[in-house]
Amino acid sequence: MGHQDITLTSFTVRDLRWPTSLDNIGSDPMNLAGENSYGYLQYHTNVGTTGTGWSFANGQGNDVLCTAIRSLAPRFVGRTLSSITENMGATQRKLQSGQIRFMSPERGVLQLATCAVLNALWDLWAKVEGKPLWRLVADMTPEEFVRCIDFRYMSDALTPEQALTMLKEKEGGKAERIKMASEDRAVPAYNTSVGWLGHSDEKVKELLREAKAQGFRHFKLKGGQSPENDRKRLGLVREVVGDEAVLMVDVNQLWDVDEAIEYMKKLADLRLWFIEEPTSPDDVLGHAKIRKALKPLGIGVATGEHVNNRVMFKQLLQAEALDAVQLDACRLAGVNEILAVLLMASKFGVPVVPHSGGAGMVELCSHISTIDFICASGEQSILEYTDHLHDAFEAPAKITSSGFHVTPTVPGYSCDVKETEFAKFECPNGSFWKSEQGLKMLNDPWRGVPGEQTS
Ligand SMILES: [Mg+2]
Repeated sequence: MGHQDITLTSFTVRDLRWPTSLDNIGSDPMNLAGENSYGYLQYHTNVGTTGTGWSFANGQGNDVLCTAIRSLAPRFVGRTLSSITENMGATQRKLQSGQIRFMSPERGVLQLATCAVLNALWDLWAKVEGKPLWRLVADMTPEEFVRCIDFRYMSDALTPEQALTMLKEKEGGKAERIKMASEDRAVPAYNTSVGWLGHSDEKVKELLREAKAQGFRHFKLKGGQSPENDRKRLGLVREVVGDEAVLMVDVNQLWDVDEAIEYMKKLADLRLWFIEEPTSPDDVLGHAKIRKALKPLGIGVATGEHVNNRVMFKQLLQAEALDAVQLDACRLAGVNEILAVLLMASKFGVPVVPHSGGAGMVELCSHISTIDFICASGEQSILEYTDHLHDAFEAPAKITSSGFHVTPTVPGYSCDVKETEFAKFECPNGSFWKSEQGLKMLNDPWRGVPGEQTS
């Protein structure tokens, strides 16, 4: 059936929240109570196929995200799939235009809602084509790939003509890279599950032993409480995994710029690959200053999980502020803007190491990193792997025994959550959120605030 015969007939939006804070999953210096949550959108069609897309939130505020999605989603009801996919770059621009743009142009909760809508459209497109999303994109010609991108605000760093030239240059080895992807050799994994801040040393050691046996050699730990504590926790990795372990530390926006530099100098002997989110995600010049100061010590700088759009990534790259582009599949304007950032990163020669520390992020990013490898950079990078909540998904992410992500094979963008999860965790009517404990958590306005949280 052609796309012109498929019509989007209605949509549903649901508020899904997992109480992950009860296991300390997602805990870091700035997020003491991490509640992995989705604004979960589904487009229904006249042929029965459903397009699913979501954006990620952290408990409180997820109702605001759902409201924003409900305000954007009606735009495509009654439209044919072909009218949407024939020029996805134009579709993105249309979605980001109009009265509601005034609320927060291409950033904030509106950008998250835009992402959920675009993800649902891409999921539907890939399902209709019978391909996993990465394959849908990998099978595009360079011209089709470029047509998915809105180049507004980007052309001083990358023009459509330059993008086309870059993509054509990568066509040569593409067949071999697709073969590697089909053999689960495209995307090596790194591990964050060992290093949540709330885990005890014993728990960290136990998880490290498991991760080592699974083939992991790259580890990221949450840090920033004190240099002494970081030194002790990083020492556990060296003790269990050995000297060849590649180490990263994430402090989730904790410091001022000069504070970051002074703190990291105290860890200079630990041979860290990078410090992640050392300061405000909006501080382009601050990241550049930190990177310049730490470079002689051999420590890189990474950020991106809170970068809202291609303009911020453009500036970070132009300012030479980054050693790794940590784009987040639910912060940018869907697959469209991710493709834009993949190409910019490739042009500036900076590896893309997507952020995928939350539930379902690995599912999405295993598509994105595969696209980066096959089409954009042509180089292997690494992708974060966390091991929580994969069972909640219809097409769960997996890793191989040699530490690679398994390349997705199920048609779509791997967004679909099992219906049983909604019975328990849809807010406010799922069984958990109606329980005494759930209600207490929901009704605590200070949840996640140090010294104030009561539940
Ligand atoms: Mg992080």
